[in-house]
Amino acid sequence: MSKDENNEEEDWSKFASAGYESAYDPWADLVPQEESEEFLDDDIDFEDFSSIRPPPAEEGLDYLVKMGTCNHCMARLSGKSFNWESAEEVGISIRISCEERGVMKDDDIEYCPYCEDLFVDLDILVEVMKNELDGVEFKKMQLGAHFAKDHVAKEDDLRTRHGATGSQALKAAFNDALGFKFSKEMGEIELVKDQPEVMVLIDTLTFDVTADLRSLYLYGRYRKLERGIPQTRWPCRVCKGRDGGCETCNETGLQYPTSVQDQIGEPLRAAFQAKNTAFHGMGREDIDVRCLGRGRPFVIEMKSPIRRYADLSELTELVNATSAGRVEISELRASRRSEVARIKGTAAEKSYTIRFKYGPEQHCPPVKIDGEEESQSEDVAEVVQENPPEWTAEQVTELCMSLEGVTLAQQTPQRVAHRRADKVRERQVVSISDIVVEGDEVEMTVRCESGTYVKELVHSDEGRTVPSVAEKLGLVCEVTWLDVNDVHAD
Ligand SMILES: [Zn+2]
Ligand SMILES: [Zn+2]
Repeated sequence: MSKDENNEEEDWSKFASAGYESAYDPWADLVPQEESEEFLDDDIDFEDFSSIRPPPAEEGLDYLVKMGTCNHCMARLSGKSFNWESAEEVGISIRISCEERGVMKDDDIEYCPYCEDLFVDLDILVEVMKNELDGVEFKKMQLGAHFAKDHVAKEDDLRTRHGATGSQALKAAFNDALGFKFSKEMGEIELVKDQPEVMVLIDTLTFDVTADLRSLYLYGRYRKLERGIPQTRWPCRVCKGRDGGCETCNETGLQYPTSVQDQIGEPLRAAFQAKNTAFHGMGREDIDVRCLGRGRPFVIEMKSPIRRYADLSELTELVNATSAGRVEISELRASRRSEVARIKGTAAEKSYTIRFKYGPEQHCPPVKIDGEEESQSEDVAEVVQENPPEWTAEQVTELCMSLEGVTLAQQTPQRVAHRRADKVRERQVVSISDIVVEGDEVEMTVRCESGTYVKELVHSDEGRTVPSVAEKLGLVCEVTWLDVNDVHAD
């Protein structure tokens, strides 16, 4: 491996899961805004309240009218049955009955002490939301309204004193009323509390509406048919991908012109009109390793997608056509965030085809591995002979087969030592098959446990992997190429 490639390996892990958002509360960063003025007029006489029977008693309703309660709040505080379709009319009819008894709103009250006339502005808010979500495809929406803390507290206090028992609180009522109006206007919008496609936050003080288009997740398997393509997008080493790239990366900001992430993700990103992608593979192969067979499971994330519903078999064809000969996908289906953890957490056995050259130089004696029995080192030393051994094809096959079923002790390979803890990992070689010896070259199929360093299984990494093909042959082995044949999962 050249020095350059080593450097390229270096920063790999940093970008492997680049762009993965962790679960978050999109509104956690909002600072409650201070209420600027008192909404409750000081001249309302609190002292009489204890004697007034609450709604639905007439005197309770009369009192709501007197204090300037709006029609919506009247309906929700009245103790009468209503829905958001009819809330306005229910409120009006209560008010009319009260007025017939000669009860009027106090003259100096400017707005509803419960909602500060928010319900009056529902139509305006629906318009703002429609603008904000113009052209966005979605069916499931979650609404959140941000209220000043003291507004919520005051409303709670007032409602407890003057509203009917069990009246819905302001925040929940406002969300329901707004959601109802919005979905009635838009049609086919479902209000959800879990897995929304769009989250809309309304600031009730400023009327700012913020729409968060939630990520769309797709599961599939990919085959990487060409060597030299990294799995994930990898920013340029020199400019780190900032400021539109540099001379070294031809102003692309990328270390490699493409990646599995982009071969798959760019056509999809265009189709979903998403802002960006994040790629989560079930493990990954080295840049110079192909991934064949059924391919490797992955979940790709479309961030802030404008479009959401598509024919996935058409998209599969699109990806495979634009990426012909490099990357192919199959089994594309809808996924969700939780599957990312599953994909990342699955330790799947893998099958590889590996081709290597052996001899004629003698394999160097293994270095001592931490925790290894002294006697084993002596055994290993016996393998190293004065003159390099010469083997027949049958003997080579036999020596390779002797590794089947063994548990390898693999000290962190030198090529990844800078980013992985230096320790000995034990991994099992599940099976070895299809060994073909052609002169000084060998090709074989190896199935092994997740996390096995397969190249090291062959060349021994200067004795850091024990046992190895090189050790068994007593000769230097050099890997020509490696393919992943199957990821045994799903
Ligand atoms: Zn109100
Ligand atoms: Zn650059």
